[in-house]
Amino acid sequence: MQEEMKEKKVNEISTTDPDARMMAVNNNGLNVCYNVQTAVDQKNKLIVDYEVINNPTDHGQLSVMGQKAKEILGVDEIKALADKGYYSSHDLKECDDKDIEAYVAKQKQAGGGKDPEFYPDRFQYNQDQNTYACPAGQTLYPSRIRKIKDVEYQEYNNFCVCKTCEFKERCTSSEKGRTILRNVDQALLNEVDKRTRENKELYAQRQMIVEHPYGTIKGIWGYSYFLTRGLLSVNTESALSFLAYNLRRAINILGVVKMVKRLAPA
Ligand code: SF4
Repeated sequence: MQEEMKEKKVNEISTTDPDARMMAVNNNGLNVCYNVQTAVDQKNKLIVDYEVINNPTDHGQLSVMGQKAKEILGVDEIKALADKGYYSSHDLKECDDKDIEAYVAKQKQAGGGKDPEFYPDRFQYNQDQNTYACPAGQTLYPSRIRKIKDVEYQEYNNFCVCKTCEFKERCTSSEKGRTILRNVDQALLNEVDKRTRENKELYAQRQMIVEHPYGTIKGIWGYSYFLTRGLLSVNTESALSFLAYNLRRAINILGVVKMVKRLAPA
């Protein structure tokens, strides 16, 4: 198995289902499973589209599901609410490019320093000058672009002033001085953060919308694990359970008579 992992450049092998992957499961630690993505409509809580993936992260999925929902609903613009697991600058940029108005809670950032008084949020960005003012009142200027995990950041620093700064020990452990990183799409991220903050009531509906089908399917029907194996089969199995959910939901909303009438050929 070790040889196989080396050869395939993977760090796990699932003997029960080769397509399933180890993932973090809410409140229950880790489990070997799949990641089910759904787009659910706000008004009727119907599942617009779904996809089962075996990538443990939700990063990158918002623009994919948002675009699918737009196409199925035949609309040019759409609002998409998602939890903080979807917060990714790449994906939020994709959403923006595809006219998907994203509402996503911000991921908590690490402090990035020894002393809270010198955490990155204590550095003030000056948009007009494209500079940062540090807690000592010095100006940090843009230097090179750094890529971390495919995300581009602009570096800001001013090593000359750091050298003689009385706060250097508290601010940074770097010999040269302090560097602040700013995502190159930070202006867009700020816009998403502001929009999400200012629309708390709308954002609070996220759980009532997207979790509604899961509450019914998993909580009430007791469908808490897949019966088949393999990504293709699991996708098909999900399609059947979501179809059953949508039919039940439509019957609940319209009633049997109206539902049958609407299904009848014109
Ligand atoms: S070390 Fe540099 S960035 Fe930090 S407070 Fe001093 S001058 Fe500002």
